[in-house]
Formats: sequence, structure tokens, C-alpha cells
Amino acid sequence: MKKKQFKAESKKLLDMMINAIYTNKEIFLRELISNASDAIDKLYYRSLTEKNIKTKKEDLEIRLSLDKENRTITISDNGVGMTEEELENNLGTIAKSGSELFKEKNDKKKDIDIIGQFGVGFYSAFMVSNQVEVKSKSIDSDKAYCWSSTGAEGYTINECEKKENGTEIVLSLKENSEEVNYDEFLEEYTIERLIKKYSDYIRYPIKMMITRETKKEDSEKTVTETEDKTLNSMIPIWKKTNSKKSEEEYNDFYTDKFYDYEKPIHTFRNVVEGRVSYTSLLFIPSHAPYDYYTKEYEKGLQLYSKGVMIMEKCSDLLPDYFSFVKGLVDSEDISLNISRETTQENFQIEQIAKTLETKIKKELETMLQEERENYEKFFETFGTQLKYGIYSSYGMKKEMLADLLLYTSSKEKKYITLKEYLENMSNEQDMIYYACGETIEKIDLLPQVESVKEKGFEILYLTDYMDEFVLKTMQDYAGKKFMNVADEKMNLDSEEEKLALKKANEKNQELFQKMKEYLKEQVNDIQYTHRLKNHPVCLTSKGEVSVEMEKVLNAMPNNQNVKAEVTMEINENHEIGKKLEALFQKKDFESLEKYTKILYAQARLIEGLTIENPTEISNLVCEFLSK
Ligand code: ADP
Repeated sequence: MKKKQFKAESKKLLDMMINAIYTNKEIFLRELISNASDAIDKLYYRSLTEKNIKTKKEDLEIRLSLDKENRTITISDNGVGMTEEELENNLGTIAKSGSELFKEKNDKKKDIDIIGQFGVGFYSAFMVSNQVEVKSKSIDSDKAYCWSSTGAEGYTINECEKKENGTEIVLSLKENSEEVNYDEFLEEYTIERLIKKYSDYIRYPIKMMITRETKKEDSEKTVTETEDKTLNSMIPIWKKTNSKKSEEEYNDFYTDKFYDYEKPIHTFRNVVEGRVSYTSLLFIPSHAPYDYYTKEYEKGLQLYSKGVMIMEKCSDLLPDYFSFVKGLVDSEDISLNISRETTQENFQIEQIAKTLETKIKKELETMLQEERENYEKFFETFGTQLKYGIYSSYGMKKEMLADLLLYTSSKEKKYITLKEYLENMSNEQDMIYYACGETIEKIDLLPQVESVKEKGFEILYLTDYMDEFVLKTMQDYAGKKFMNVADEKMNLDSEEEKLALKKANEKNQELFQKMKEYLKEQVNDIQYTHRLKNHPVCLTSKGEVSVEMEKVLNAMPNNQNVKAEVTMEINENHEIGKKLEALFQKKDFESLEKYTKILYAQARLIEGLTIENPTEISNLVCEFLSK
């Protein structure tokens, strides 16, 4: 039969496997066992709902056999098997999960990382074999087919003999080399060790005929005995109680089952007995999946019923703001024929989702308290999702999420929580101050920030575009309102100072009116301020929309040209005030107009805003410079 070529992407991966100088070649066994177990899962699941499938649970098994003479390892299962077409599609093309990873990782990291940290699937067989044969009979077909390949040149598929449904994979081991002794894989104890190490939790028995030579007592003769031995304990990893070894086991399980190449940042297992009983094993990834912040990302947990996987991604188990959580739920109370469509109104699912939500929150809080560094890393990766949870629920999820938020503090420029902000705050302060900007450094230089800091108040620095929207939806935290230091209402003056300022403003009303005219519609008000220390001028905003929010809203597609109500505030204690008053008195309106324009441009630039008339401003500045 004619040789067929592998698809381009598959060939790349295959080449990598064949030529891998990777030392951990032993993982091929884990991969093939895992495929076998999945195939049995599929069959078992179907047998529960399809009457014509007469599979008995106790017959399901994976079998290994070693042939030292021919140097082959055979791995067989009695799962669903593959049709001719499936052999072609599944083994000629690299699986979807694998190819996505491949696209993502290609060029970024070294090959070794892919092989070592991620389950690469069927092709890993080529790390140890120079020929691979897959005989398979699908539960849906009367015929059996054999897929065979010696590597990158291609593969053949021919009809063959096989009585029972399932798949049998025969690996012909590579010749021993100086670096690798492939014969090792033909030793029973090696295989036993590898099954214990990687596949112990597989829920179907992995059996092998073991030969044992024993010396009978009082006799010189050795007797060879054989035993059909089950090599794995079959206890699913999530059913095992925590032990020392388990962290590593969990990590391996996670990278293998959830297609990640890095171990999770946090793992937690939970056993719940009650109206709905379940065990959950959840992971928080250490980095965002490459499609996390896209529409393509699908949240969800694996759903098991009595150890049988019935759904790969049950999305109703997770709220959107915890969509980064990976893992599984195993419950005896879930019916096996639950479907995607029915999970939403399913009482058990709803109950589990509720308790999981609380559990995840608690777990994050514990992490925040006990593993601060890890938590900060987590927050930098997934914090936006938590914030979005508050924003999109119109603040309804505030209770759940507010304590998980972190903001950079003006004091030590490190992350603090809202709770910590309140703890640091003196009795005289009754609001939570914040300032917005592109970066911590830029916010720190804002004129409005300076005087608040000077007075010893702590300010939360908001650098994420949605931060201020989130605080606005929350309105307050523990009864304390949020206040933008650039809000017109922000006022730290004493009563006396307030009165003096009011007077100064009244006195110069005509001056400010004149200046406002020069700026046309651009500002709503001009007034003196005491909020500035050294800076001459700043912008503040009145009402709901701050200058920072205006920037964000107008950067969005189909923006509605939102305008903040802006006040230009001039430092009363700065020389420039006197100068403006003098010009007004002298009726030198030409100069006053120029001064006003430059001051306004300065204020905008300090805020990180653009100016509409850069040439005019540049010329004005030059004019003054050359005087
Ligand atoms: P993955 O397991 O990530 O999907 P693999 O390359 O390991 O990728 O396998 C590709 C596909 O081949 C599987 O998704 C499965 O459909 C099929 N397959 C592999 N091994 C078996 C098997 N023992 N029985 C039935 N189907 C199998």
C-alpha cells in the first residue's frame, strides 16, 4: 500500500521526537497509557447510555507485554478503538491540543521544554522506537486496521486481523546507543517503576505477566513462576489523601491533563460531604493560557461521576471571574447522562458551583496571607479578571472580590490591599485616596499627588485602564468612599485656608472669566488652588467622569466622545498667580492670552494628555524664551 505523508506540523513534531536528545524518554509510556485510558473512558461512558454496547466494567483493562528477543513493547487496551478514518486523522495529524501548544511554544522555548513539561501524546513513542505499529478495531466497525510507520518518511494503513475492539500498539525499540540503553525498557522492574511513577492513578488496571524466579527452600533448584500482576493502585489522584509525595504527583497530573508546560502556582483539594457530596482538585495556573484574554478561551472544570469523566469542560461550575481555575470535580451525585445543555438548571451542579466559589475565594485569601509573593504573581496575571468581575456585576460581587484586589501604594510603592490601606490610615482620614496614570512613576510626579503625599496620606496608584471604573462601581469599601486626588472636591485645607482661598477666587473672578474665554470650550472653570505645592497648574474634574476615564472611554471603539468636566486650577502660592493678576490690571490682554494658553497646555501635558495646538504652543514658548 502507498505510503502517506504526515501533515507538515505533525512532521515537525515527529522529527523532534525522533531526534530528541532528551534524557527523559521514559515519558512515552505515560503518554500511551494515558491515551489507552482515555479510550476506555470513552467506551465505558458510551456503554452506560448505549444498549448495544455490552462492555462490563470489570473487563476493562490496559495490558503490557515485553518481548526481549524481538525487542518490542506492546501496549493494548480494550477501549473504543479507531476506524480506518480515525487512524488516519488522529495519528497522521498532530492532535489539536498538541498543535495549539506547538504553535504557541514554537521558537519561544527550546524543544526540550515541550517534550519534558507537556504531554506530547502519541508521537512520543518515536523517542524510543524506530518502528511503531498501531492495530485498532473500533467499537463501531467490523474491520480492524493497522497503522504503521518507521518515522518521518510517512505511514501506511492496511486492513488486519483483530478480534476484539480496542487498540494494540507495538513499539520496536531503537538500537542501544552510547547515551541510551533502550534495553532497559524491556525489563519488568523498569516498567513497574515507570507505571508507579507516572500512571498509578489510572483508574483501569494496567496488567502485565510478571515472571519470577524463586528458590524453593531446601532445594538448589530455582522455579520460574508467572503472575498476572496489576501494576497501578488505580486510586484516582484526587481520591488520595495528601501525602508528602503528592505535590509532585499533582504537578505532573496537572501538566499532563491540562496541557500546560509549567506547574501550577497553587493546588488545592477539597472533599465535601453534604446534600451534594464531591471531591474537587483545583489548580491555579502560574501563567495565563495564551488565549486567556480572548473570546476563544473556554472556562470550565472536568466533571467526573464516580471516577468516570463525563464532561471535559463544565463551564457552569465556575463564575467568569474565576475562569482561570483549572481542575476537576468528581461527584457521586451527578447523573451520568447530564449534558452541556442541562448543567445550567441542574441542582447538583449549582450547589457544587456555589461551594466551589467560596472555596476558591478562601484559597486565594489564604494565598494572599501566607504566600504573598505567589499571590502578587497571581494577581499580575489574573487580577484584571477579578476586577472585571466587580465591574461587570455592577458591584454585586464586591463582597466576594474586593478583598482580593491589590493596588500599588504611594508609600513604599508596593502592593497593598484595601484592608491594609484602612489599617494604615489615621482617624482623621475618612476617604480612600487614589490617583490614576499610565505608570507608577508618572502618577508619582502628578502635581495633585504631591500635596496629598506631603500631608502624609497614602494614595492608591491605579495603572490599569479599568481600575477607576471598578472603584466607581464599588463606590466605597468598608464604608469609606473612594476619592480621586484629581477630583475638584478633594480638599485637605483647614477651614481658615478654605475661606482665604474662596476670597482670593472671588476677588479674581473677572480675571478667570477672561482666561476662560481664551480657552473657549476647553475648560469649565478656572480657579486658584492650594492643592499644589511647587507646580503652577493642574487639571481637576467635576462629576462622574475623570480626566483619566475620558482618556479610556475615548480610546474605545465607537466612543461617544465623552468629556470630563474640567477645571484648570492655578497654584495661588506660585509666582505665576501674581503675574496673571498684574497683566490683568495692566490690561495687557495680549500677553494674558498667551500665558493662559501655555498654562493650559502644560496642565494637559502633565496629565498625560495631548494638546491640539502644539505648533502654536511651541512658538509661544520660543517667543518668551527669546525675550
Ligand atoms: P491527545 O491524546 O493529546 O489527543 P495524541 O497524539 O496522544 O493526542 O492522540 C491523538 C488521538 O488519537 C487521540 O485524541 C485519540 O483520539 C486517538 N488515540 C490515541 N491513542 C488511542 C487509543 N489507544 N485508542 C483510541 N484512540 C486513540
